[in-house]
Amino acid sequence: MRGTTVKTEAIVLRSIRYGEADRILHLYTTARGRVNAIAKGVRRPRSRFGGRLEPFFRLDMMLHEGRGELLTVTGVSTVDGFARLRATGLSLTAAARSCDAVLRLLDSAEPNPPAYNLLCRYLSLLDGPDRERAARVETALAFRLKLALAAGFAPELGSCAHCGEAEHLTGFSGAAGGVVCAACEAGSFELSEAAHRFMVEAIASPLAEAPGGEERALRQAERAIGETLEHHAHVQLRSAA
Ligand SMILES: [Zn+2]
Repeated sequence: MRGTTVKTEAIVLRSIRYGEADRILHLYTTARGRVNAIAKGVRRPRSRFGGRLEPFFRLDMMLHEGRGELLTVTGVSTVDGFARLRATGLSLTAAARSCDAVLRLLDSAEPNPPAYNLLCRYLSLLDGPDRERAARVETALAFRLKLALAAGFAPELGSCAHCGEAEHLTGFSGAAGGVVCAACEAGSFELSEAAHRFMVEAIASPLAEAPGGEERALRQAERAIGETLEHHAHVQLRSAA
């Protein structure tokens, strides 16, 4: 076969049936960022790839790069199948939303180790002993904030995104890309101190120690993240909860 072989770790974000026995995989990889690949004959009973090419699998892969747009899967071994994650609906839903967020937000074929490691970390938490906590909206929002940061779209939280004022930060503006002060609040929505604090702490804390928050604060934080990404990354995320 002509072309080159790409050896990479990857998370399967989405796996789509194709033709009679193939699958198209949407992958997030360490070597190439977001790529799509075809796994030929994988749905035949005796496929050597077995059942590994399903969403959330963390794999070591060999991908053949020819002239077409799709890479071709030529080798696969499992790094982690996250089997426990699949056993509960809440973890499964949270994992699906996190992979969906990666699909929408990180669309370039550029490696992004912080984003890749963050996704692996979140899937491990959803598969681990604290998976109930990991599936809660607090952790899901902390994941989104960290993902936005890794993608270069973190909201400005330290001072007014419009004028730089450090006090009286009472609103949030997706267009300005962060918190805004009372003087600049036109076009913003009210952001409570609790919501502001939640976002600051969620970015600063490890994912496993995402801060708690009241429902109202979490709703505001979700809106703040969502509007920032809509304005600056031009993507819309699905609801976090
Ligand atoms: Zn201002």
